[in-house]
Amino acid sequence: MVALAALALHATAQERELSIYSARHYATDEALYAAFTKATGIPIKRIDADDTAVLARLKSEGAASPADVVLLVDASRLWRAEVDGLFQPVKSAALESRIPATLRGKDSGEGSQWFGFSTRARVIVYNKATVKPADAATYEMLGDPVNKGRVCTRSGSHPYNLSLFGAMLEHMGEARTKTWLAGIVANMARAPKGGDTDQIRAVASGECQVALTNSYYFARLMRSTKPEDKAVVEKVTLVFPDQASFGTHVNIAGGAVARHAKNRDAAVKFLEYLASDDAQRHFADGNNEWPVVKGLKIANPALDALGPFKADTVPVSVIGMNQVKVQRLLDEVGYK
Ligand code: FE
Repeated sequence: MVALAALALHATAQERELSIYSARHYATDEALYAAFTKATGIPIKRIDADDTAVLARLKSEGAASPADVVLLVDASRLWRAEVDGLFQPVKSAALESRIPATLRGKDSGEGSQWFGFSTRARVIVYNKATVKPADAATYEMLGDPVNKGRVCTRSGSHPYNLSLFGAMLEHMGEARTKTWLAGIVANMARAPKGGDTDQIRAVASGECQVALTNSYYFARLMRSTKPEDKAVVEKVTLVFPDQASFGTHVNIAGGAVARHAKNRDAAVKFLEYLASDDAQRHFADGNNEWPVVKGLKIANPALDALGPFKADTVPVSVIGMNQVKVQRLLDEVGYK
């Protein structure tokens, strides 16, 4: 009897557990999940993988998937997952009132299939001592011969770069984008490797002079108390590219309820929690991202120091649809 009762209790806990597949790779998020469980009593089971692996897993598991919530860190992957039928629509007055329409999936009447909860800019960093500001003021300059032997980036096929290049394709057309990407490859100081923080460090060390990074990786270094991080920030300038034209590319981290969620109510509750003031402040304070809720007061000295900027407005769906073409161009110019 005792064993049976224990078993029943266990089953109940399993049923109430919220299963999250997450591509967010930020240690500071632990506090976010813990706060949700504390407020609601709903335990979380999390599986961490990158966007590509999360989507592949959802596809292969199909209707048997235990995933309730899916968190991704790239707008075009959110868009892709919607197209592939991996999410389900959510109608929520709280989410609709707090998240701007441009930062969520299209509402076909049944609600949106995904919601953005934070934004990040894809910026240029350059070595103060060796680079003239004009040589790093635009994304286009990364492919200009003036930067020969000076550029480093992570893999061209990483979602952060694919989305930026997808936006550039919209602005420049296919022929100019191909020339531009070939220019970046010709300008590389080294073959693509590492993450964004590695590129910032390489700029500081002089291994390269100009690089691409997401804004929060630089803001994290700005707020670090480690002497080696302070030394990096001293040597590097961050610029929001293309302020005189279409603006800086902004990407979205967001979430959705999985198509075959077993725990739909808790999943919606979790998404609504991510749009709450507390969670939104967490994205800013914990991971140096910008909240999506308008008018929220945040206290982050690094984000304050970076200041306001003009953001590019190419729609997520366009960037998503350009991805296949971008990958082909990368293959053609040998951008690994
Ligand atoms: Fe990241």
